[in-house]
Amino acid sequence: MSRRNGVIYCNRCGSPICTEGEAGKSSFLTICKEWGYFSERKDGTVHRMDLCESCYDAWVRTFAIAPEVEQKTELI
Ligand SMILES: [Zn+2]
Repeated sequence: MSRRNGVIYCNRCGSPICTEGEAGKSSFLTICKEWGYFSERKDGTVHRMDLCESCYDAWVRTFAIAPEVEQKTELI
């Protein structure tokens, strides 16, 4: 669990990222995956994790195929 007492922690490095109230103004990755019938041994479980931006960068560098990056014209 990477959220404790209203604070979001990075699952990889354990550092606090921000409070849940600041989540909309912070830059980090949240993955929430509900594993279904076709998964191996994870049926019916939900896996949730948060990664800070530098851990995201480090993780992505280990990929054989880099994520697709699209330049959005408007920054929110
Ligand atoms: Zn991290």
